[in-house]
Amino acid sequence: MTEKKEKKEQAHRVAMPEQKPEIRKRNFDEVPTGYTVAMAQEEAARCLQCKKPGCVEGCPVGVDIPGFINLIAKGDFTGAIRHIWGKNALPAVCGRVCPQEIQCEGRCIVGKRGEPVAIGNLERFVADWERESGTGALPPKAEPTGKKVAVVGSGPSGLTVAGDLIQKGHSVTVLEAFHKPGGVLVYGIPEFRLPKAIVAQEVHFLERLGVNVEVNSVVGRTVSLDELFAEGYEAVYLGVGAGLPRFMNLPGENLIGILSANEYLTRANLMKAYRYPEVDTPIPKGKNVVVLGAGNVAMDAARTAMRLAPTA
Ligand SMILES: Cc1cc2nc3c(=O)[nH]c(=O)nc-3n(C[C@H](O)[C@H](O)[C@H](O)COP(=O)(O)OP(=O)(O)OC[C@H]3O[C@@H](n4cnc5c(N)ncnc54)[C@H](O)[C@@H]3O)c2cc1C
Ligand code: SF4
Repeated sequence: MTEKKEKKEQAHRVAMPEQKPEIRKRNFDEVPTGYTVAMAQEEAARCLQCKKPGCVEGCPVGVDIPGFINLIAKGDFTGAIRHIWGKNALPAVCGRVCPQEIQCEGRCIVGKRGEPVAIGNLERFVADWERESGTGALPPKAEPTGKKVAVVGSGPSGLTVAGDLIQKGHSVTVLEAFHKPGGVLVYGIPEFRLPKAIVAQEVHFLERLGVNVEVNSVVGRTVSLDELFAEGYEAVYLGVGAGLPRFMNLPGENLIGILSANEYLTRANLMKAYRYPEVDTPIPKGKNVVVLGAGNVAMDAARTAMRLAPTA
């Protein structure tokens, strides 16, 4: 192993600045505050630019990770974001909530001996840099094919399909049942992990590319699949998610104060109930709250309950 490579492997991962626990437990602001330019370039310099990058094998959409990290190291942030867009239309979202520890970072070669390169933090950095610098850059689009596609549901699945198809030159309309696009990104994942303004910006990026987003459109009710085909859509993608909670049929399950995580988080996130009475949607608040389950959704419910707990 060369001395340079060894030094890179021993270098510590640049820590993500974040709100302190005693502060963040009482607010809904995003917990990590993001890398500065200097931090991002320092972290990017840790990448070994592997010839057979494990990180890419671990990425479900095959983003050229060493490629975009190299561009960050060189200070070409627009180049870096363009590089990501070729494979992923939602980098600000994925940089925040993808399970990198089991995907790209879980396969990073540097991680075999030390701390993996902070791929998610770098993806987030470059997506935020692009948004905040306002360069207005867009990925290239193929010539129009004249084909119309309808995408039902605007969760990450529908938005990803819309982003891929619009870049291939098709005409794309996303139909969303709710009044806001984003699916679980807006009604499930809490503001302190994924700010809703970030989701709105990613949707706006797709709109700038030419995607037409229609909210309050419940396919099957406000419009049928037959009607969509009759309107000239040649293909319909169903990305409707798995939005219904599954109850356990326990005695007392319907008592006041007992909510599915789905309802609880939708109230808190989509309807912003943490700002009640400034907004119309109320939400139960308790000093002693029991959360059944211990997966990611349960953790989001627990963190939300802690932030909402009355102090007095
Ligand atoms: C609380 C919570 C936290 C999570 N955290 C993470 C995380 O940190 N990282 C991670 O990778 N995954 C996470 N997940 C999982 C992830 O959010 C889902 O895998 C993902 O949202 C699925 O995307 P989707 O587009 O298939 O469905 P959804 O996000 O559910 O979107 C489906 C959309 O379709 C719309 N729809 C449904 N029926 C119709 C219809 N008839 N007409 C029009 N529109 C319709 C819905 O309103 C919704 O907007 C989390 C899930 C939850 C619930
Ligand atoms: S595996 Fe790690 S070190 Fe190698 S290219 Fe990917 S991010 Fe860089």
